[in-house]
Amino acid sequence: MKRAYPTTTGLIVSLMMLIVAVWSFGFITRNVLAAEPPDAPKIQHVILISVDGLRPDAIDAADAKTIQSLIQRGTWCPKAETVRPSYTLPSHVAMVTGLDITRHGVTWNNNSGAIVQHPTIMTIAKQHGHSVGLWIGKDKLQELAAPNTLDHFAGAVPGQPGYASAAKLTDDFVKVWPNKKHAFVFIHYSDPDGAGHAASWMSQRYLDAVRDTDWQIGRILDSVKNTGVESNTVIIVTADHGGHGYGHGEDLPENVTIPWICAGPGIRAGQIINRVIRIYDTMPTVLAFLELTPPANIDGRIVAEVARRPPPPVLAPAKP
Ligand SMILES: [Zn+2]
Repeated sequence: MKRAYPTTTGLIVSLMMLIVAVWSFGFITRNVLAAEPPDAPKIQHVILISVDGLRPDAIDAADAKTIQSLIQRGTWCPKAETVRPSYTLPSHVAMVTGLDITRHGVTWNNNSGAIVQHPTIMTIAKQHGHSVGLWIGKDKLQELAAPNTLDHFAGAVPGQPGYASAAKLTDDFVKVWPNKKHAFVFIHYSDPDGAGHAASWMSQRYLDAVRDTDWQIGRILDSVKNTGVESNTVIIVTADHGGHGYGHGEDLPENVTIPWICAGPGIRAGQIINRVIRIYDTMPTVLAFLELTPPANIDGRIVAEVARRPPPPVLAPAKP
């Protein structure tokens, strides 16, 4: 049988089918994306809260309702991990530099008077004209405070050993925030760690400290809400390490596992990340929210699961 060449009618039918197919693809694509949250407002503030010594399983054990609410309306990873060995200062340096301990080199865990020399979230944000506030519960975290970087500093007094309670730090925050509303805020609460060392991790005293700190986090969120910027603010709650018995240095799951929670505009609600996020992934993720580029060759990777969806593809309309 002679093979039929396409007729003009056949060509028109084929063209119409192609148009319908292209239109349908665009329709389906648009509707799949439309099921996602609509384009969220621009992120103008990131508040990073590190709860010293917070184990992920302490959140429910302490009935920490504020953190639980952040988990519900955001994305959380219950098996994030800190550096090894899991000590406070090396962990926090990793958190803000994006570098593992072998790269950043801060292996000590006391206030040596040194200042971290690597770029941090604070120094990069400041270099790009953002305001930065730092509230710390232990004096050794002063090593994160590079000169001419901070628009506000509160906590353990510079140059002196000591601690600042979560209540005291939060009192200062709620006083300062309405007028400052920094682009990047780092708050370090030390109370649960102190209770863990004194009475053991997961003891009643430790859980009480977690619950009290959770209440202070609630005051932070209230302040953000009351100043009208909740829809432009991302909150991250995480920790520097967990704990077991009366300490946290050994390479045990209870010590190295930390919570990592992220909530805010455009962040997927109710999502659980079932892979290991590293503590140094926090740095590039915060910078991405602020639309800043992380340094090349850091160890941290942006936590892509919380990244806001790109805008829907624009399909060229089919020509009639
Ligand atoms: Zn610690």
